[in-house]
Amino acid sequence: MNFSSLNYQDIKELSVHGRYISSSQLHSFINKNSIHKKLSLLGNSVDDRPIYKVTLGSGKIKILMWSQMHGNETTTTKAVLDLINYLNKDSELANQILSSVTLTMVPVLNPDGAKVYTRENANVIDLNRDFLELSQPESRILRVLYNEIKPDYCFNLHDQRTIFNVGSLEKPATLSFLAPAHDIDRNISASRGESMKIIVAIHKALSSLLPDQIGRYDDAFNPNCVGDTFQLLGTPTILFEAGHYPEDYQREKTREFIFYALIRAISVISGSKIEGYSLDDYFNIPENNKRYFDLLLINSHLINNKYDQNIGILYKEVLDENSIIFNPYIEATGDLKDCFGHKYLDCTDQNDLNFLKSDRKLYQLLF
Ligand SMILES: [Zn+2]
Repeated sequence: MNFSSLNYQDIKELSVHGRYISSSQLHSFINKNSIHKKLSLLGNSVDDRPIYKVTLGSGKIKILMWSQMHGNETTTTKAVLDLINYLNKDSELANQILSSVTLTMVPVLNPDGAKVYTRENANVIDLNRDFLELSQPESRILRVLYNEIKPDYCFNLHDQRTIFNVGSLEKPATLSFLAPAHDIDRNISASRGESMKIIVAIHKALSSLLPDQIGRYDDAFNPNCVGDTFQLLGTPTILFEAGHYPEDYQREKTREFIFYALIRAISVISGSKIEGYSLDDYFNIPENNKRYFDLLLINSHLINNKYDQNIGILYKEVLDENSIIFNPYIEATGDLKDCFGHKYLDCTDQNDLNFLKSDRKLYQLLF
């Protein structure tokens, strides 16, 4: 698949950018005329914020996708808005998709968490652990929508932290996927097999753009998770995880790759091409591991002998007005063998030391 022919820069929704999406940005997007007609209110969150769906296409195959079930995971929401723009523009592929599938998209399932940039909803419940109990209005809204639509496929859209690498390689998991299990033995039902093959199709299409940067998530069964529940009900469900791309803390590059992954998945489904992919190839996608720090400080004992040899630093994402700032904290110390850094700073190197001293937050943390 030639993604450059999609002209991503022409369809990218420029009103949203970076890690935080405000409700006014979202509302101005969904109030655009072309989208407004396809919009409907599903219900309200704990704090009475509206939760919307956008429906596009008129085909027989029904796809349901939702993003920002975790409020601080905006990358896939940006990609969903890009997808809506793409499908609203006249193109051969867009028309083919719209005539063969009906897409129901919930851009923000957890608007209260989105507002304050938290994973959980306003009752501090992780909606992805609430799917048996359905104790929260947001969980019930998704479950009712699922019952109403009876989708043929579900896409569960998330962000993952910067800590994930692919296999044992020093490569960030820029994208990760999972065909959730539907039982403890992780059997492969027909629906799970379909999810796996769609993931193989995405992996094949994107691996030249992201060599060794696509991973597979751990598939332990958890019936409280929404993906596992829908898979158990027989609906092929795919977990998409947007992760780190080098230097891209705003996740604008990753957003583009998620857009391509969505287009690939939808076009494989709409073109009835799933059976051409092999289950074995799913297991050939390396599993993720958690070996990255944002910064790996080498020879940190040279700063102060109270420190171990090396320090692993991660960033905490904090909402400040309408943007996200990244505050460093020490996650681990020691020899940190087999760990990687998105950036390395060696305290035997004067340039690196100067950098550490000139960065206000790192200086306060370490000196
Ligand atoms: Zn998530």
